[in-house]
Amino acid sequence: MDTPLVIDKGVTICPPLTAIQADWMKDLLENRDKLRSLIDQYGSPINIHSTVPFVENYKEYVSTLQTHRLDHKIFYARKANKCLAFVKAAHENGFCVDTASYNELKQCLDLGMDGSRLVLTAAIKTEQLIRLAIENGVLIILDNVDEIEVVSKIARELETAAPIGIRVSGFEVNGEKLYSRFGFDIDETKTVVFNHIKSNSSLIFQGFHFHLNGYSIEQRAVALAAVAELSDVFAAHGMDTKFIDIGGGLLMNYLQSGEQWQYFIDTLKSAVSGEADPVTFQNNGLGFQMIDGELKGELATYPYYNESPRDRFLDKVLSYTVGGQAVAKMLADRGIALHLEPGRSLLDQTGITLAEVIYRKRDSQGNLLVGLNMNRTQLCSSSADYLLDPVYLPAENNMANNDPVGVYFVGAYCLEQDLILKRKIAIPHYPQVGDLVCFLNTAGYMMHFYETEAHQFNLSTNLILHADDAISLDDVHKV
Ligand SMILES: *Cc1c(COP(=O)(O)O)cnc(C)c1O
Repeated sequence: MDTPLVIDKGVTICPPLTAIQADWMKDLLENRDKLRSLIDQYGSPINIHSTVPFVENYKEYVSTLQTHRLDHKIFYARKANKCLAFVKAAHENGFCVDTASYNELKQCLDLGMDGSRLVLTAAIKTEQLIRLAIENGVLIILDNVDEIEVVSKIARELETAAPIGIRVSGFEVNGEKLYSRFGFDIDETKTVVFNHIKSNSSLIFQGFHFHLNGYSIEQRAVALAAVAELSDVFAAHGMDTKFIDIGGGLLMNYLQSGEQWQYFIDTLKSAVSGEADPVTFQNNGLGFQMIDGELKGELATYPYYNESPRDRFLDKVLSYTVGGQAVAKMLADRGIALHLEPGRSLLDQTGITLAEVIYRKRDSQGNLLVGLNMNRTQLCSSSADYLLDPVYLPAENNMANNDPVGVYFVGAYCLEQDLILKRKIAIPHYPQVGDLVCFLNTAGYMMHFYETEAHQFNLSTNLILHADDAISLDDVHKV
C-alpha cells in the first residue's frame, strides 16, 4: 500500500494563498491525536466550530455603530451556517437573528428568542410561515404585492396587525440601475406600495430593507441615501420610518497577504493564456477564458483578500458621502435606526472542516489525485473555488517524510468534476492513506450552503468547541 509513487520534482503548483487562522484553530491543529480521535468517532468529514470569534465580530460591529451614534439592531443571517450553537450564542449575547424559512424561524422561537429580536426575510413565505411570524410579533420584510395581501389577510384573521418592512431595489448608481429579482422597484415603492399599505390597518409600517448583491461600498451608501429620501416621501404622508436595513454582504478577509493574492491572480491568468503551466485542474480559468486568442472574463470567486473587512467595511459605508453628507448622518438626523444582517462576516474565523485521505493516484496526465472522504458540496459556495490553502496533517508515521508535492483533492461523488479544490495544492509531505486535511474558515456558507446527500452519504457532522476545550455535537443533529 505504501509503495512510493514517483514524485515529480519541480512540478508546477498553485502559488500559495495563506489563510488567516484564529488562535483556537492553531491550538486545535497542534493536537493531532484529538483530531484523529474525532474522525474515528464521527467519521469524515467533520466541521468544528467556536462561537468565540462570532461574539467578538458582533462586538466590533456594535462599536462601529456606536462611533457613528446610530441606533441599531444587528441580525445574524442564520442561513449562512446550520449550527444551532450560533443561534444560541446570538440569543445569549443580545444579537438579533435574520430568518429565511419556517424552520429557521421556529428554531429561534423554540430557543426562547423574543419576536422583537427576529426578522423574517424569506424569499418564499408560505401562509404557515407568515402565521408563525405574526403570532409572535416578528417583523416581516415584504417583497411583492401578493405577499402584502396574504400578510394582511392573515393579520385580519388573527385580529391583529403585523409589523412590516418594505424591501426595495432598483437603485440608480452612476447612471445605471442595479437589477435585483428581490423587492419592489424604488420608484414603484413611492406609488403602488405606498397606496397598498397606507390605509391598511392590518399592517404596521416600520421601515425599509435592501440587500445588495456584490460588495460595493459605494452602492450600499447610494442605496442608503436613496432610501433616506424615500422615507421623507412616506413621512410627508404621516408614515414614519423607524429603521433602514442594509442587509448583509459585509466583506470579510480570508488571506494573510495581498501580494500573494495578486500573484495568484497573475499566475492564473498566465496559465489560462498558455504562457505558464496550469495551476488549476484541467487549466480551469475560474472565470477567465481564452476567446479568439484573447484572455477574457474575470475571477468568478469571492474576493478572498480585503484590506477593510467587517466593521471597517461598515465604517466605510457609513462614512461615505452622498450629495456632500455622510450617510450615517442622514439616518441620525432623521432619527432612523440602522439594521444590518451580516451572515458570513459574523462567522469569520468560527469554523474548520476536517477530512481524511482515502487514496492517492496518478491520473493519465500525471496529476497526483488525493481522494478525500467528503464531497465537493461539503466545501462549496457560489464561488468558483475556495482560494485558501488547507493545512495538511500527516499521520504520525508520515511526519518524517518531507517530500513536498502538488496535488488535487478529489471527492466521493461519481462526477468527473467532484474536485474539492480546483487549485493544485502544495503539501509538505507525500500523502499517505489516513492523513488528514483541514480546510480553514469554512463556517460562512462553505460547509453548509450547498451540501447534499447524493449517493445516500450522510451530511457532515457538526461539532462545537466549548470554553473548557470539550468538543460535542451541535444540537442541529438533535432537531
Ligand atoms: C444572504 C442574506 C444576508 C446575509 O448575507 P451575507 O453575505 O452572509 O452577509 C442578509 N440578508 C439577506 C436578505 C440575505 O439574503
